[in-house]
Amino acid sequence: MVPTQHLYCREGTSFGCGSNDRPNHIWEYLPEWYKMLVIKPGIGHTPFFLLFILYFNRMRYNTLTVLPFVALIGKSLATPVKRSQVNGITSDAATFAQSSFDYVIVGGGTAGLVLAARLTEDSAVSVGVIEAGEPRFDDLNVDTPAYLGQALFNPLYDWVYETVPQTTLNGRSVPLNLGKMIGGSSALNFMIWQRGSQGDYDNWSQLGIDGGWDWAGLLPYFEKTENVTSGPLDTPYNFTERAGSGFGEGNSGPIAVSYNNFYSTLEGPYAQSLLSLGVPENADPDNGDTTGLFNSAASVDVQTGNRTYSGRNYLLPNVGRSNLAVLVGAQATKIQFSQDGGNATATGVQFTSGGTNYTVSADKEVILSTGSLRTPQLLELSGIGDEARLSALGIPVVVANSDVGENLQDHQTLNSGFLLVDPDIPTIDTLFSNASFAATQMEQYLTDHTGFFTYTPSALSFHPLQQFWTDDELDAALAQLQTEIAQTNVSSFISKQFQLQIDNIKQGQVAQMELLFVAGVLGASSNDQQNFVDMSNFASRPFSRGSVHINTTDPLAYPQIDTAYLQYTFDKQVLIKGAQVTRNLSQTAPLSNFVSSPLSPSANVTTDQDFENYIIENVGTEWHQVGTASLGPFGEGGVVASDLIVYGTSNLRVVDASIMPMQIGAHIQATVYAIAEKAADIIKAAQ
Ligand SMILES: Cc1cc2nc3c(=O)[nH]c(=O)nc-3n(C[C@H](O)[C@H](O)[C@H](O)COP(=O)(O)OP(=O)(O)OC[C@H]3O[C@@H](n4cnc5c(N)ncnc54)[C@H](O)[C@@H]3O)c2cc1C
Repeated sequence: MVPTQHLYCREGTSFGCGSNDRPNHIWEYLPEWYKMLVIKPGIGHTPFFLLFILYFNRMRYNTLTVLPFVALIGKSLATPVKRSQVNGITSDAATFAQSSFDYVIVGGGTAGLVLAARLTEDSAVSVGVIEAGEPRFDDLNVDTPAYLGQALFNPLYDWVYETVPQTTLNGRSVPLNLGKMIGGSSALNFMIWQRGSQGDYDNWSQLGIDGGWDWAGLLPYFEKTENVTSGPLDTPYNFTERAGSGFGEGNSGPIAVSYNNFYSTLEGPYAQSLLSLGVPENADPDNGDTTGLFNSAASVDVQTGNRTYSGRNYLLPNVGRSNLAVLVGAQATKIQFSQDGGNATATGVQFTSGGTNYTVSADKEVILSTGSLRTPQLLELSGIGDEARLSALGIPVVVANSDVGENLQDHQTLNSGFLLVDPDIPTIDTLFSNASFAATQMEQYLTDHTGFFTYTPSALSFHPLQQFWTDDELDAALAQLQTEIAQTNVSSFISKQFQLQIDNIKQGQVAQMELLFVAGVLGASSNDQQNFVDMSNFASRPFSRGSVHINTTDPLAYPQIDTAYLQYTFDKQVLIKGAQVTRNLSQTAPLSNFVSSPLSPSANVTTDQDFENYIIENVGTEWHQVGTASLGPFGEGGVVASDLIVYGTSNLRVVDASIMPMQIGAHIQATVYAIAEKAADIIKAAQ
């Protein structure tokens, strides 16, 4: 484990460059004249360094001792070696900007840090990462599983976005959260770890995307990411198979994945009630079919009881590499290009830090990993986007592509809260409302990494619609959907997606709806004496398609995010049905013995129309935005080609959730990691 101290010890300079018992990088002890000598001509510093040591050790050297060094200097001059002036995690923007990197990665989040770690495995390759947030290592709000949600809306961790007013929601804006720190959203998320179904990814290749963007092509990269500890047999779910068996070869990757070692008293009754409604159990949900009820894995290290995320698990073990520098507290504002007739070549990235503007150059590539809500903004600010939109803002067009920022898809969410019969049943909220309970649990957590502080939501179920809809209901809903689609002006790309989605629905093979149980409502009851549980439902394969665009050239302004929630009646119907199933579940034994009454929506909400009204007032995000810089053919929805190069450029790639062309019926972080692992191989192969 890397000690805390060295990560925070050198604010304003390079830190994280060594362990506590040895000095930080030797570079910091060298005089300025020496650095200039080495950096400016771009030669390696090893021979100079040796001469420097000889000089300061006052060694007596004669012709014989000097000769080998003269030879080394000659070799260095003949074969220049590029060196960056910084390494480790740094807030020294000026020195970072003076450095020279092969790859500049914008965004040190989930995908960005996977790439940084993988690309710097080759010591001849240098990588500079620009991250707007700060490191939050050894921070309980990040590390402690049961603190999930506590960092939301705190600008130290969260960008805190909101959608533009949604016409479909009576003009309501919906808050959106996204990680702003080392690790990005992987440090803020709720840790549910899940691969999608085979059909989810095979849809992508059926859109005409080649290059192995399907289940078979992604599977090795899930396995490369994961290090799975199988779960115990005696969980409250009483499943027959050992949880985790379906992960197959995923046993040596950087992200430790495990099963809860602690369950509340409520998961068991919840699972039993769901099974009694006819939902089958799925003991192997990560093997290509997510449908059914299962005990979900989580991105938690069972050995330490900590969240695992890209910052801790990809970056930290490699942060001492001399060819890797991660600049924090710096926001990228524009990609610079040179253009000589053919494709545009990305030459560097402009960024701002502490009120000063800088540019850092990239010798080989610029890679955007700023996530689905930011990547389109940077593309547009840099001249890649819809010609009319850019011209109206006075932005010179580098590549005209009207698909940039389109195709935004998110899982739409409805939370239902229920009051518990027994106010003394501990829930996650008890950690915030009962100080002595919390203290005992914290002691247990810190001592042996077990107990309520390791709690993550584990009771997940995914459903084809046939599970809860009659054939007539489904036929009527699909007919209405097709009428609405015909009345909408959708692109051929989205039209193809819709056809695949409709086929999936009819075949009943890919999950369309998710139910999720949380023992507590994440701290919401901390100020009163009551006890709640949350049962959420989600539209897993939505038809709504939104967008993210700029409406100003101010790079620090937030983009205009239009999630277009409930754009199609079908999505609303999926949520209405989910809320009704949830209500029914709360009244089904044995869960009904624990749950007393519905709070939100209240018991007065009973008819379809009541539920619809409630959903319009309350639908929110599952924080799973994808699709805004999509894989796909140019001119038919694609922003990036199958090698993730942005169309019209020779060396600008996008690697983050935005490249997913279609939403998957699953939580998406494992897929983002797999995308980044695959991207790293693509980039290495192109070197
Ligand atoms: C609250 C929440 C809960 C979630 N829960 C789950 C879950 O339980 N399970 C699951 O599978 N998925 C979950 N997700 C989704 C999942 O975590 C994300 O989809 C995924 O991590 C996104 O990865 P990314 O690399 O695309 O972007 P991010 O990880 O968000 O990385 C983007 C990075 O870029 C940085 N950045 C942005 N703009 C700039 C700029 N201009 N200059 C410099 N840096 C910039 C950001 O600060 C950030 O660090 C959740 C997400 C959230 C927000």
